[in-house]
Amino acid sequence: MSGDWRTVFLSGIVSQYDALSHQDHTMNSASGVTLIRNGQLVDGTGSPPIPNAHVIIRDGRIVYAGSAIGSPSLPNDVASIDANGGTIMPGLVEAHYHPTYFNVAALEDLDIKYPVEYVTLLAANNAKLALECGYTAARSGGSLFNIDVWLRKAIEDDIMPGPRLAPSGREICGVGGLMDWNPDYRRIGMEGLVLLINGPDEARSAVRKLVKDGIEWVKTYPTGDAAAPDTNDHHTLCMTFEEMHAVVATAHNHKLKVTGHCRATQGILNALKAGYDAIEHGTFIDDEGLELLLKRDVPCVPALQFEYASIEFGPSFGMSQRVVDGHKETLEGGAESARRILKAGGRLGMGGDYGFAWTPHGTYAKELTFFVEHVGLTPLEVLKCATKTGAEIMGRSDEFGTVEVGKLADLLIVDGDPVTDIRVLEDRKRFIAVMQGGVIKAGKLA
Ligand SMILES: [Zn+2]
Repeated sequence: MSGDWRTVFLSGIVSQYDALSHQDHTMNSASGVTLIRNGQLVDGTGSPPIPNAHVIIRDGRIVYAGSAIGSPSLPNDVASIDANGGTIMPGLVEAHYHPTYFNVAALEDLDIKYPVEYVTLLAANNAKLALECGYTAARSGGSLFNIDVWLRKAIEDDIMPGPRLAPSGREICGVGGLMDWNPDYRRIGMEGLVLLINGPDEARSAVRKLVKDGIEWVKTYPTGDAAAPDTNDHHTLCMTFEEMHAVVATAHNHKLKVTGHCRATQGILNALKAGYDAIEHGTFIDDEGLELLLKRDVPCVPALQFEYASIEFGPSFGMSQRVVDGHKETLEGGAESARRILKAGGRLGMGGDYGFAWTPHGTYAKELTFFVEHVGLTPLEVLKCATKTGAEIMGRSDEFGTVEVGKLADLLIVDGDPVTDIRVLEDRKRFIAVMQGGVIKAGKLA
């Protein structure tokens, strides 16, 4: 008899884990056929635009993408969308997204500014905003508590609008490292934001906690940042190689991926040697690091507009000159590293750490403009990084990230040409439609 209640009990448990599984992408797609016409096609592969294109969607997936001339004939009464002479392109992918950051002006704003109840509401609103900004998918760079995991579920269940999410949940950092800022006398820990570890055993147990939470990416802090010049600046290591290796071995065993905040040269090397699946920032990469990165084809998400905005606007939020000087150094180093990585054939994701007071949510596409105007990438290179590479980082490039036959119709239709003026992507008023699976979720037609 006892077997019966165990079966019932366990099936309840199993279904809860299923509900949190990253394999469970259940967002509704459109049904029927839709033709998008009268626009150029930028397919996200880096290829030059195809003028006067047609994109045909059937049941939420792309069945034709190319010149109108080669387009299959459709019934006259088929639903159609007029791109108004603008651009049909893949939905954007924000590759370093913090849904729970909100107008952060000081480090402690990240963990104790608001209670978890309010942060959850803010995160839901930020997710809606990201979709309205043309971002149909996003990889989390870390989240307060486990909010991004449940946000993903709400979005996939069509309870609320937002990008398709790859969640990270709480981050991992060494004790005394960048993310360990609450002094002991305050008698509060960091447990909402980061799991603090000492040694490989604690690194393993931290990852094991996250496995149960339902995350996809383990976000770590191998190095410090310009934000903490006294004890954890951008040349300081915040985790040992042994700790990082233990994180990777445990995460990979449970089919999770690992990334980390990597600025210092040695921190980047440690991450690449430990088997990290991505590098955030990659600020001071050296020749050895670059060679390893290319050999293992590890993508890097530089997040540079944040540095620029910190220098420009940080002082008006009370940022000290020492911190500003540090950001100048990390901007210069980061821009140079990004150029070297792309030129050598490496992959860059476009994600920007948005959610600080000087880089508010809703301004994500400033990252793309910055890479064209200040880093020197071409618009087509940046668009590929912001779509195809983003989907690759999320491990879902077979589903979205390019406008190609068989993929989900996660599309952005813009009244303008981002290839000649990347700034049109900053202006939501120019968006005719933002689609996920062929369903118009935002833009003028929504
Ligand atoms: Zn971040």
